[in-house]
Amino acid sequence: LVRLRARLARSQNTLGKGLLTLLSREHLDEETWEEIEDTLLTADVGVAPTQELVERLRERVRVLGTRTPDELRTLLRDELLALIGTDFDRSVKTDSGLDTPAVVMVVGVNGTGKTTTTGKLARVLVADGRSVVLGAADTFRAAATDQLQTWGDRVGARTIRGPENGDPASVAYDAVKEGIAEGADVVLIDTAGRLHTKTGLMDELGKVKRVVEKHGPVNEVLLVLDATTGQNGLVQARVFREVVDITGIVLTKLDGTAKGGIVVAVQRELGVPVKLIGLGEGPDDLAPFEPEAFVDALIG
Ligand code: GDP
Repeated sequence: LVRLRARLARSQNTLGKGLLTLLSREHLDEETWEEIEDTLLTADVGVAPTQELVERLRERVRVLGTRTPDELRTLLRDELLALIGTDFDRSVKTDSGLDTPAVVMVVGVNGTGKTTTTGKLARVLVADGRSVVLGAADTFRAAATDQLQTWGDRVGARTIRGPENGDPASVAYDAVKEGIAEGADVVLIDTAGRLHTKTGLMDELGKVKRVVEKHGPVNEVLLVLDATTGQNGLVQARVFREVVDITGIVLTKLDGTAKGGIVVAVQRELGVPVKLIGLGEGPDDLAPFEPEAFVDALIG
């Protein structure tokens, strides 16, 4: 976790540094506030959250008068945290509370990091002493099933797969069935994310969920968003939200972008908690999203 924090800090703290430098100027004229706004927009904080943040910063700076660097840091930290919100339940529900496995569906557009995230999550769970079954329900991307199987073999989780181009819902059903038969703790289901038609996706994901629910409740539906796609991720999220009830967001590839402000936008605009963040391609590069640590990384 310490290593992940360091990586997050490396990729993210240009935003915080930029803001602190601007806020430290002796005269905060309109031009400076515009620069502050631009800095936030460039980091993908989004238009509405940026306006809200700038309003609040203006007010606080006005009340404060002269500002020491420490005061500025505290002020910025407070306001960013207020914007992200700290009182969300960010735990990933991997305990069904029943004697059947918890079921976690991983959804998102292809390429965002669904399969990788599913594999990483399996690894975290197995390391924690939980038994995991993987469902390779992304039957449309030829390589996805093998990719998931590789993760499964590596971390010690059985992978349930179906025929290429087979019915994703039937693979998902079989995976949960196998999980129940084995007495597994958690079943993780990797799904396909073809956004080419909304109805196609809707039919498919909805069906996967309904079919799985024949066994019992789905405990989590995690939406994977690629942080490097910026505000586009929000558009995807809205589409998915219409299709299934999203219970949490996984924001991947935060190691490859300085645009960590997307966390703020996602959290504000969707009202769904960011639960996990991806900070690399390796098996250990998944971390719980901790607002305080994240904002500290932003501010540097
Ligand atoms: P899927 O199509 O959504 O299942 O996407 P994949 O899991 O195949 O991931 C697409 C690419 O993104 C792969 O090359 C992954 O290694 C890479 N990837 C996934 N998560 C991360 C991350 O957190 N950071 C980085 N840098 N790359 C990632």
